[in-house]
Amino acid sequence: MLNQRLKAVSDYITGDALVDIGSDHAYLPIYAVENNIIKKAICGEIVRGPYESSVKNVQQHKLSELIKIRLGDGLSVLRSMDDVDTITICGMGGPLIAEIIEEGMQFVHGKPRFITQANTYPYPIRKIMAQHNYKITDELQLKDGPYFYDILVFDYSEDPVEYSEAELRFGPVNIDKREPVFIGQLEREKSHIEKILNGINDREKNIDKVTRLESNLKYVDEVLGNVK
Ligand code: SAM
Repeated sequence: MLNQRLKAVSDYITGDALVDIGSDHAYLPIYAVENNIIKKAICGEIVRGPYESSVKNVQQHKLSELIKIRLGDGLSVLRSMDDVDTITICGMGGPLIAEIIEEGMQFVHGKPRFITQANTYPYPIRKIMAQHNYKITDELQLKDGPYFYDILVFDYSEDPVEYSEAELRFGPVNIDKREPVFIGQLEREKSHIEKILNGINDREKNIDKVTRLESNLKYVDEVLGNVK
């Protein structure tokens, strides 16, 4: 049974052929094939243990013909003849996902959809994808206990893609949709920053920190609509 996080990712998959990077156990491709979301998949995994676990799970589900597992670094597992409609990169920190994209975009043929699910700090993913003319077409924030997951969907755009600093930080679709999970998180961030600022006695001595926090607060307030 797929968890809520990967199930939410599966809802955004498009086309017949999926590439799942950092596949670990291969649960997402197995679910997507078994539920007729896709016809076939390639899994990429850099560490031998998880790679073997993917191979074993795919064999147990009798899907070895449809799901191929490759051992390798990021998108470098792709070959020019591969069909790729959607690329998923899930369950890692935002900076690592951005690095995988930055280092591996040269191996991507065509203009597949990208779906990323970052456990932390999605800012660098939005930034690197915009540099490659990928526009954010959907965003979802999931809350699971104390954790927030950011699911970002990117589709290729013929036009240049540019985002403001606030959009890179918080997500243009999140800002637009103003879902309660998103607004709740921003309000918590605001009170967290204010608490730290109020706790700094010597502002002159801590000027760099104060400036950084005030700048962060300005962006949060801008999105919350507190800045006129
Ligand atoms: N994608 C699965 C999920 O969301 O449940 C597994 C997430 S698991 C926490 C992250 C996986 O990414 C690990 O198995 C790790 O070995 C793999 N990984 C990390 N860096 C990678 C890279 N550069 N290329 C391929 N796999 C990578």
